[in-house]
Amino acid sequence: FDQRDGYIWFDGHLAPWADAKLHVLSHGLHYGGAVFEGERAYGGSVFKSSEHSARFRRSAEILDFTIPYSIEEIDAAKLLVLEKNGMKDAYVRPVAWRGSEMMAVAAQSATIHVAIAAWEWPSMFDMATKMKGIRLDIAEYRRPDPRTVPSLSKAAGLYMICTVSKHRAERRGYADALMLDWEGRVAECTGANVFFIRDGQIHTPLADCFLDGITRQTVIGLAKARGIEVIERRIMPEELDAFSECFLTGTAAEVTPVAEILGHHYTPGAITRSLIEDFNQVVQPGQGRSAAA
Ligand code: PMP
Repeated sequence: FDQRDGYIWFDGHLAPWADAKLHVLSHGLHYGGAVFEGERAYGGSVFKSSEHSARFRRSAEILDFTIPYSIEEIDAAKLLVLEKNGMKDAYVRPVAWRGSEMMAVAAQSATIHVAIAAWEWPSMFDMATKMKGIRLDIAEYRRPDPRTVPSLSKAAGLYMICTVSKHRAERRGYADALMLDWEGRVAECTGANVFFIRDGQIHTPLADCFLDGITRQTVIGLAKARGIEVIERRIMPEELDAFSECFLTGTAAEVTPVAEILGHHYTPGAITRSLIEDFNQVVQPGQGRSAAA
């Protein structure tokens, strides 16, 4: 992945892809002093770009560092990366990390670096394939108590349990893993939020110890605009059999129907389908701001 044609925005300049390197003694690598974003461009516009840039800056503040670029500068840098790489539909990855000036837990004077890359990550627009739904395992690791980790930060370090859980799920033949939280409630997947449907109502876990995804918020808005009730509450795994539909939301996942969670089966239906259609509409350039989301 590191030897490609193209450009990566690196500390304010465009660097050739293969030259966008950092030092091995970076704090971000040793102590997890790093935050990132995941975004998608559709037709040359980054969906909810400023919201992502604001979350990026907030994630860093929670880890006690400041990204040295404004929301406007970050938004502009993303567009420059897309333009310079000739991409209109792409996944966009900003990342910020503490540099190598201090090799210890404390890193007050380490330089804050920022890079923005973009690459093609096709969305699954084929509705028939999508509506078959994916299969989920249940992870061994749980989302930690928010008193023990900076849950609201999209901190790189929080993803180690996601990687381990995703690997285990794939080894066992599943696409991803549903993670419970520290209290045993249903939380989210390794990189996406989860929703359930029962009797025409949508139920989704309260985002109190995991990322309240920008796609999650968008889809809640779209459902409400359709007059569908959305209930955010504690959901226990014992309830998994009581739902008829299930889907995931996230920048990479968009709206992805789920067919099974470890033996609990779902049939993606009318509500899931209409939210996929609404989401596909709202991400198109020019639609993002005017829509209900
Ligand atoms: N949870 C986790 C752990 C994630 O990594 C993501 C993807 N950023 C999400 C939820 C969904 O967030 P969003 O809709 O903002 O992409």
